[in-house]
Amino acid sequence: MLTIKRETAIYAMSPENAPVAHAANGDQIVFETTDCFGGQITKETDRMGGLDWSRINPATGPVFVEGAEPGDTLKVEILKIALAEQAVILEAPGEGITGLAAKEESTKILKVAEGKVVFNSALSLPICPMIGVIGTAPEKEAVATGTPEAHGGNMDCKKIGEGAVLYLPVNVPGALLALGDLHAVMGDGEVCVCGAEISGEVTVRVTVVKGRPLPLPFLVTQEHAMAICSAGGLDAAAQGATLQMRDFLIGEVKLSPSDAGMLLSLCGDLRICQAVDPNKTCRMEVPLSVLRSLGYEF
Ligand code: CA
Ligand code: CA
Repeated sequence: MLTIKRETAIYAMSPENAPVAHAANGDQIVFETTDCFGGQITKETDRMGGLDWSRINPATGPVFVEGAEPGDTLKVEILKIALAEQAVILEAPGEGITGLAAKEESTKILKVAEGKVVFNSALSLPICPMIGVIGTAPEKEAVATGTPEAHGGNMDCKKIGEGAVLYLPVNVPGALLALGDLHAVMGDGEVCVCGAEISGEVTVRVTVVKGRPLPLPFLVTQEHAMAICSAGGLDAAAQGATLQMRDFLIGEVKLSPSDAGMLLSLCGDLRICQAVDPNKTCRMEVPLSVLRSLGYEF
C-alpha cells in the first residue's frame, strides 16, 4: 500500500505544491501524521509561548490522484485512524474561547491507552479519533493549513473519523490531497483551541467522482449526511452549511424548496464544528434514515 511519510509535511494547501506521490483512482493510502504542534510539546513544562510557529499545523502530502480533474469531486473514505500513545492539550490566554478568561498558560500530557484518553486519576474519556486538517488544493491562492475554507483544511469536524466518507472539491489536476492534525477526542467547538492533539496514521481510499453532485465539503457517516461550511464568523458558517444542505435536498433528493427548508427545520441539526480557527466551521446534519425514506441512498 502507498504510504506517505510524515516528513512530507506542508503548511499551506496550494495549487503550487508538488505532489509527493501519485495514487490511482480507488487506491488505499496511508498518511503518517504529526500532531498540530509538529511534535514540539512533549512534557507539561512545554508551553505555547515556546513554539516555533513555522512548524504548526503540518499536513502530510499532497497526493496526486490520477484522473481527478478540476470540476470533479474527490471521495475520501476514512478507513482507519491509528493513534500514538500520548496526546497533548494546552490552554493559553488569548487563544480560543476559554483563553478569553484564562490567566496562565498550561499544558497537559494525556496518555492514550485501552481506547481511552486519561484526563486525570478520576476521569478517562473514550477515544473518538478524528482528522482536524484534510483538504485538497484550492483553485488559486495558497491557504495555510490552519485555515478552513471551501477546499476543506482545518475544519476540525469531530465527525471526520473512522468509517466516515468525506467529499472534497477537485480544483486542480490530481486534487492534491493532504491531511493531518489528528485528535484522540474533541468536543464540538474546540473551545480551548485544541483537542487531544496526537500523531498517528490514517488509512483512506480515494475515488474520483465525475462532476459535483454534492455541495462540498460533504460528509457521510454511519448515521448522518452533513454539509460543512467554513466562513469568517459562526453566523455565516451556520448559514452556509444550512443553505448547502438545502441545495442538496432540492437538487439531489428532489424536494421542493419549501419542503427542503421545513424538513431542515424539523430534523436537521445545525452544529458548530469549531469556533476558534481563523475561519469558523459549522455543519448541518440530516439523518440518513430520513434520506432513505425519501428514496435517496449514497
Ligand atoms: Ca485543528
Ligand atoms: Ca488540532
